[in-house]
Amino acid sequence: MATSPSRICKGCWQHMHVPIPIRGPLSIPFRMLGIRISHMNPNLCTICETMFTRVKRRKQLTIPATVLFADLRGYTSLAQGTETGEVVGMLNEFYDACAAAVWERDGIVNKFIGDAVLAIFNFPILREDHVRQAVLAGLDLQQRCAEKKRLRVIDAHGETCPVGIGIGIHTGFASIGEVGTAYKDFTIIGSMVNLASRIQGTAQPGEVLVTEEVYRQVSDLCPNAESHAYPLKGIEGPVTAYRLRA
Ligand SMILES: [Zn+2]
Repeated sequence: MATSPSRICKGCWQHMHVPIPIRGPLSIPFRMLGIRISHMNPNLCTICETMFTRVKRRKQLTIPATVLFADLRGYTSLAQGTETGEVVGMLNEFYDACAAAVWERDGIVNKFIGDAVLAIFNFPILREDHVRQAVLAGLDLQQRCAEKKRLRVIDAHGETCPVGIGIGIHTGFASIGEVGTAYKDFTIIGSMVNLASRIQGTAQPGEVLVTEEVYRQVSDLCPNAESHAYPLKGIEGPVTAYRLRA
């Protein structure tokens, strides 16, 4: 169900109703002005990135969104016992798999933080079903990683097995904010994002762990998902989350 590349920027169209060409001959003059395809999603342009930064400076931009965090499990020990070239190769495979799974569902890959990835759904490309799209991306990412030949490690018994990926997803209201001083970029901030990150830290390899708010909207995808109340660092009271498997 790969979505075909858009000829105009989906973000500029949805937010300003301005068609900014990003592909084809019409995009050439725009590229000469420095307007290019965003590295966060190939259907967005670089105006979107700067525009949202400016919006934020004027007022707080609070939006409903779904956040997905994913990371390579055992990356630290992996990085110590493996050759540098091989580790870089694995990270690249992981990033590629993340980008493909997220972009197909109109999300953006906002940050690559070492061995972890932060993806945002419903911003800047608006989708009413952003919760479902994020969960589908998470399940798809597990599937893609399990199939990648380079994403394999030798376990304690000398057997080759897929490297574990942990994924956490939460939804709610969050703010779009600006981070960095030398290199300005927008990202998503707020308690919702912290909870998503904590949930991801709790996910077992191969799991997509989602909060109750998320599960309520996608229960038909995994009707018998196991739930558990997790105590999470820095968050009051245990949080109920559901384990989804591809
Ligand atoms: Zn744009």
